[in-house]
Amino acid sequence: DQVQTILFRLDREIFSTYARDSELSRLNNHAVGTPFAVSREMLDVLMLADTVFSSTSGAFDPTVAPLVNLWGFGPEVSLTEVSVPHDRDVEEALSRVGFDHLVIDEARSEVVKTRNVMIDLSAIAKGYAVDQIGRLLDERGSESYFVEVGGELKIKGVKTDGSSWVPAIEAPLDQASEVYEIFSNLGRSIAVAGSGDYRNYFEVDGIRYSHEIDPRTGRPVRHHLAAAYVIADSAALADALATAYMVMGEEPAYEHAERGEIAVFLIAREGDAFVERVSSAFSPYLGEQ
Ligand code: ADP
Ligand code: MG
Repeated sequence: DQVQTILFRLDREIFSTYARDSELSRLNNHAVGTPFAVSREMLDVLMLADTVFSSTSGAFDPTVAPLVNLWGFGPEVSLTEVSVPHDRDVEEALSRVGFDHLVIDEARSEVVKTRNVMIDLSAIAKGYAVDQIGRLLDERGSESYFVEVGGELKIKGVKTDGSSWVPAIEAPLDQASEVYEIFSNLGRSIAVAGSGDYRNYFEVDGIRYSHEIDPRTGRPVRHHLAAAYVIADSAALADALATAYMVMGEEPAYEHAERGEIAVFLIAREGDAFVERVSSAFSPYLGEQ
């Protein structure tokens, strides 16, 4: 019941882009230039989003919302359904993108939009929900659990037989789920989140348009990275970074992870085959199984 309460609050009441009266929808409809009082949860998520926005040079940017809608992946389903938008519509939407048009005042729990930005926290809120459920279980004294919401995980301790949890990375295929690689939490408390181009996409003229939008071009990412899985202490951080890495592409993602000692497992397409690239911080989790 308590888990349900957390999920209802975070989804329906706070972060939903579908519910018109969620806190996020109200913020999106709020006037430019006047303060908007935010909940503790909204403040937490916006501040973390800001950190990831900066550290990824804007690859992760929740103000991509107008573009997410334009490409048909948001709550405002386009009339033409699956189609490629006009360049000028992309340009128009791009002019409203930029997380730095949101000023966050932590002390006052307020935010001010300095431009008419629209925010979509779908790439971080699910992870945050997983963290909140993990925290509830921690507070109830649980030494061991495996929490999953929509593919984002929080894992703690060992199984009842004393062995580590064995989460799997899924093959980046749109058919039935298939294991690509298994790893282990090594008995540690870890969060895992992944992003991919293979579940949520449409295809026109043989080109795949995924729901990961590059805020710099205004277009779905077009490179050979198929999936990115991140291990971190917090699922919200892992969630946001996995999305950022999908936007950045293999090489920049790998370099970012190595520089920041971030654990990432990248899967790239090479023709019909897949190749993986694992950052140094991820390797230990692949060792013991
Ligand atoms: P999933 O929802 O499958 O776990 P992600 O965590 O990668 O995948 O979230 C993808 C969603 O994030 C998209 O559907 C869109 O709403 C939003 N999004 C797309 N591109 C970006 C971006 N560059 N920065 C932040 N959010 C994004
Ligand atoms: Mg994400």
